[in-house]
Amino acid sequence: MIFAKKSLGQNFLHDAGALHDIALAGNISAGDTVLEIGPGEGALTSELLKSAKKVVVVEKDDRLIPILEKKFAKEKAEGKFILIHGDILEKNPGGLGLKRGEYKVIANIPYYITGEVTRMFLESEDYPSTVVFLVQKEVAERMVDEKESILSISVKVYGSPKYIRTVKSGSFRPAPSVDSAVIGIYNISKKIFEDNKINEEDFFDIVKTGFSHKRKKLISNLAEFYDQKDLENIWSLLNLDINTRAETVKLETWVKIASNLFKII
Ligand code: SAM
Repeated sequence: MIFAKKSLGQNFLHDAGALHDIALAGNISAGDTVLEIGPGEGALTSELLKSAKKVVVVEKDDRLIPILEKKFAKEKAEGKFILIHGDILEKNPGGLGLKRGEYKVIANIPYYITGEVTRMFLESEDYPSTVVFLVQKEVAERMVDEKESILSISVKVYGSPKYIRTVKSGSFRPAPSVDSAVIGIYNISKKIFEDNKINEEDFFDIVKTGFSHKRKKLISNLAEFYDQKDLENIWSLLNLDINTRAETVKLETWVKIASNLFKII
């Protein structure tokens, strides 16, 4: 057992039920390739190897490399286990040999890179079909909350998020200060952007502008960057209340606002 490094977000999960449920949430079938970020000492990796065809892991901590090599020597020899020593933030899915829609990412990711890693995989040209992450409970809750946020819209535009279960902080070594939760993001694609001919970057500009001042109406936030008259026309076209706030606007309406704004610009 190694000592946990805080700088690498190391909170090792030792709850067998939770480990099983994370793998289960990935709906892994015998033909699946799974990418695991930060395998640690391989607790989740063992679960994933029970059902996947291949498990590719990326681990940054030098100390863990010989431990993982020894633990999964048999699977490595069979070509089922591929160990990459490095920083996930310096990789990209294509560079790891992973192709669009043909793999799943399942991981207990270090909290300090949750946002960056989620964006990296959802936005990639070589996106996975499914993502299952163990994240801080509050982050998982915000992804599925009825009250929308930049985070929830940024996830829902790519896939369908589902809150799987809570994992109590006492299930980790060392125990973090807050509880965690397993979140699954299913049916990932760029279909919404393709079907509505919206550029991803432009879409996020609109969403971020729309949420810029919490207490203001959505139309007032957007009017800081876009033409007031154009916005009023869109509001009447979409039958939107002038007092609508960003947090009450569902993905479908964000897409309609964006596609109408781009027609005008
Ligand atoms: N999967 C193990 C488990 O469930 O017990 C460990 C999870 S621990 C929260 C996060 C793991 O990610 C650690 O093994 C840590 O060394 C690794 N890690 C941290 N930063 C990383 C990075 N940038 N790239 C790859 N691995 C990283």
